[in-house]
Amino acid sequence: MIEKMVETDIAIVGAGGCGLTAALVATEQGKRVLLLERNSAVGGSTAMSAGIFVAAGSRLQRENGETGTPEELAADILRLNGRQSDASLTKTLCFASGPLMDWLVDQGVPLEHMPDYKYPGMSRSWIHSPPQRDGLVMTNVLLRAVKRQPAIDLHLQTRVAGLTSTAEMVTGLTATRPDGESISVRAQSVILAASGFGANPSMVAHYIPEFAGAQYYGAQYATGDAIQWGQSMGAATDHMGAYQSHSSIAYPKKMLVTTYLINHGAIQVNQHGRRFGDETDSYAGHALAVQAQPNHVVVELFDEYILNETLENYPRFTECLSAGIVERSETLAELAQKFNLDGDNLARTVSSYNTAVLTGKDDFGRSRFGEPLSSPFYGISVTSALVQTLGGLRVDARARVKRLDETPIPGLYAGGGSASGMAGERPQGYLAGTGLLSAFGLGWIAGHDAAR
Ligand SMILES: Cc1cc2nc3c(=O)[nH]c(=O)nc-3n(C[C@H](O)[C@H](O)[C@H](O)COP(=O)(O)OP(=O)(O)OC[C@H]3O[C@@H](n4cnc5c(N)ncnc54)[C@H](O)[C@@H]3O)c2cc1C
Repeated sequence: MIEKMVETDIAIVGAGGCGLTAALVATEQGKRVLLLERNSAVGGSTAMSAGIFVAAGSRLQRENGETGTPEELAADILRLNGRQSDASLTKTLCFASGPLMDWLVDQGVPLEHMPDYKYPGMSRSWIHSPPQRDGLVMTNVLLRAVKRQPAIDLHLQTRVAGLTSTAEMVTGLTATRPDGESISVRAQSVILAASGFGANPSMVAHYIPEFAGAQYYGAQYATGDAIQWGQSMGAATDHMGAYQSHSSIAYPKKMLVTTYLINHGAIQVNQHGRRFGDETDSYAGHALAVQAQPNHVVVELFDEYILNETLENYPRFTECLSAGIVERSETLAELAQKFNLDGDNLARTVSSYNTAVLTGKDDFGRSRFGEPLSSPFYGISVTSALVQTLGGLRVDARARVKRLDETPIPGLYAGGGSASGMAGERPQGYLAGTGLLSAFGLGWIAGHDAAR
């Protein structure tokens, strides 16, 4: 039973990167916003992320002499995903990315452009990130801005239960407050910013069977609610089988270990002490290789040089050191013992990897190396996990949710994990940093459009 009626201009479901951005942008245009978050804190997956974010044409890039254009960024994204993402939406997001990055900096988000850092598929240095490589830094700054904005009414621990509509349009939503009170919200527009469905095991089993039953490391309430409401209103969905996975999640203590270790030369070995793939392969490719190993658990092995390079580029790695999940040994035999690996195989594995570093010829096709591995050695027990689903509601270049016949559902917007992302149909199509571009970018676009 509805106990309270509330009226606002724009109601937003979820206060992660997409929802916080949409709320701030809409109030800049003079609108009143009701921002509803199921969790007791804002941030969602955005706060858990490493904060790696692609953009073209930002002030920070210009200051560093990077002249890559939005067209070139869109070309990189479309090349990697085989032109499977909506080209017009992809280009719109790339054109929005530079001004969006400037806007975030103006909000006080501490961002830097990383001129020397490129992920596979990048023709230019598109990456921006907080120096801490921590998405929480971004959402904390946006939360402070939200709290300063009297036109935003933020409610935590408030679960949106569904949408309300007439035959023609969305008219609002219903939600449950922490004290159990049901509220009905009447709004001119609703923005779905409730992430994807990684935390919904039956949706994962249905759409992403290769990750059924696997670890999930993302927002707790990414249960696919928004996607299901959209579907029940006749909205189209795209690329529901696409996802972002990670092959370096600490195990059993779940923590993001980062790709920086691998990027600087770390290898992964299974319990037989053998490598099993190209660790620098796409997120998805190598995560599936980890999934195929005994117990889905492997050891990430690195040395002092890699540790220091990682700490310099990814200061957040100190969290792993303080958590006590990193083992250090003077010899490979000692490290093998600590992780219960086959020591003889491990010695042979490191020796042939070191030869590959020098010759450039690797049995697993790896072409990006660091230096040969040398004592002292370090290891972390890691597994692979699904971190973000990338399929979702089909939206147009104004972030409006579309029906199967391509017409927009009046009053309904979606962004971030609730909308179809930019990977196309296959996870290998995901360009690093485009998850956050979809979240902040579609939030930015939806906030502007809904406020019109
Ligand atoms: C460990 C990790 C590392 C990552 N690293 C990167 C990276 O470096 N770069 C990159 O581009 N991407 C990265 N990603 C992906 C990226 O974080 C996501 O694509 C992005 O954060 C999605 O943002 P969002 O706003 O859509 O969702 P979220 O940030 O997850 O926010 C959604 C919010 O909606 C709330 N919600 C859900 N349902 C309801 C409901 N019914 N009622 C009310 N509230 C609800 C949730 O509680 C949540 O707070 C990473 C993800 C993870 C998990």
